[in-house]
Amino acid sequence: MSAYNGFSGEYRNQVQARLEDKWSSGEWPRPAECTVCGQAEGAIHGHLEDYSRPETYVPLCITCHLILHMRYREPSMWEAYTRWIRDGYRPDPQTQKAGFMAVKTRFSGCSPSVWPGEPVNPRRFATYLDGLAPVKFIHPNAATAALF
Ligand SMILES: [Zn+2]
Repeated sequence: MSAYNGFSGEYRNQVQARLEDKWSSGEWPRPAECTVCGQAEGAIHGHLEDYSRPETYVPLCITCHLILHMRYREPSMWEAYTRWIRDGYRPDPQTQKAGFMAVKTRFSGCSPSVWPGEPVNPRRFATYLDGLAPVKFIHPNAATAALF
């Protein structure tokens, strides 16, 4: 993994391994439904803004998760995606393996009118995505976060 919110890739990898242990042992519930779009099939991840607090993971489908991490690189796609989600769309389920290619080829550079998904949710004013920082920042906890 690369650095995010000031947490190094090495730190993020260690936290991810810890999360996998917690989920595998059943101590913490494995992410099962996307907080943003409600997708419950395919790959569902645990997203962290603060890697020093792994228990704060937010369940996200692979599509919402990958696009969230592309928001600095592709701000216009991010803007359109957050609107598409607010309008009630849910992206089609994607496997872990196919998800990266699906986002790269079926979302990036494409019009929302052809994005794979259906309007299955009620229209909303805002979702979890709308509360995220639109620019890169250093999380206050990143400076003192120690490796496990
Ligand atoms: Zn989602």
